[in-house]
Amino acid sequence: MKKHHLAAFLCTLPLLCGCAQPSAVRELFAMDTYMQLTASGNAAETALDAAQQRILALESLLAVTDEKSETWAINHADGVPVELSADTARLLQTAQEIGAQTDGALDISLYPVLSAWGFTMDTQNVPDAQTLAQARALVDYRRIVLHENTVTLPEGMQVDFGALAKGYAGDCAVEILREYGISSALLNLGGNVQAIGSKPDGSPWNIAVQNPAAPSSPLCSLAVTDAAVITSGNYERYFIAEDGTKYGHILDPATGAPVDNELASVTIVGTSGVRCDALSTALFVLGLEDAANFWRNSGDFEMLLVTQDDTLYYTQGLSEALTLPDGRTAEVITRD
Ligand code: ADP
Ligand code: MG
Repeated sequence: MKKHHLAAFLCTLPLLCGCAQPSAVRELFAMDTYMQLTASGNAAETALDAAQQRILALESLLAVTDEKSETWAINHADGVPVELSADTARLLQTAQEIGAQTDGALDISLYPVLSAWGFTMDTQNVPDAQTLAQARALVDYRRIVLHENTVTLPEGMQVDFGALAKGYAGDCAVEILREYGISSALLNLGGNVQAIGSKPDGSPWNIAVQNPAAPSSPLCSLAVTDAAVITSGNYERYFIAEDGTKYGHILDPATGAPVDNELASVTIVGTSGVRCDALSTALFVLGLEDAANFWRNSGDFEMLLVTQDDTLYYTQGLSEALTLPDGRTAEVITRD
């Protein structure tokens, strides 16, 4: 090979190697949802195995209905302090912080009320007033005392991390993949999407946001790199009562009833999966106006809201990232 040919060949080598990076996929069912993990890089296979193990371990640790889980131990301690693993303590602390920031719209001690509605058992029903009142009396995240890694709950109180566990699991999986040197990956944890870097070709990941009115079809897409895109809505997990009323699985702690406001879905975009997951649930509870004000007073996330009457709102930081289908319009939420 002549010298200048060799130089040209060497120049293209990194590019060729970049395209030829091996990629791997793992599919699993965990945390009550179907998950798909995709990564590119030399260590993709081993890295995904480790990430999968971490997610499954977190599931065992947190599963509220599993007698061997730490959540079960917390919920059956009858007022006695419980020593927690670092993961559960961190998750609990995050939940408490976001609970306080959202004025209790996120309340992990809502579990007795979720049980009264049967959302924990797949035997949903509208609870009678007395059952609901008894369950509501047990709810107040401010009465959970966390001291270092030890938690104490008032007798009868029960917690569940369903609103933010998948986001936390996503963060842990991202951390592991990075430790293995992965710089391009897409993790889909049942509608919670977390991206590392960009696509192997260097372009941003395009994340479809579901249409709450027709969940199998996309409403719009968001181009992101290194971000979590996490959606909550009452359109996937719900039941229809005998009188035809639809009740969703996200409850307003202030009323003990499924959220029934103008929102159909809330999508949060940010860097922390656990925060995006907790906020997607909490801002769904808060409703359009309070969610917009919450965003105005924060600086670490963007959001996209879809209302029941099919209007799409997005915060100004998403202007570049958002692609709408032809003919679709959207309202921008600004800082002032
Ligand atoms: P998904 O699990 O479908 O991704 P979310 O992240 O919004 O949805 O979490 C909803 C789950 O959180 C519910 O199934 C329930 O276990 C729990 N939950 C419902 N309402 C609240 C609330 N206001 N605060 C805390 N947890 C809640
Ligand atoms: Mg959530």
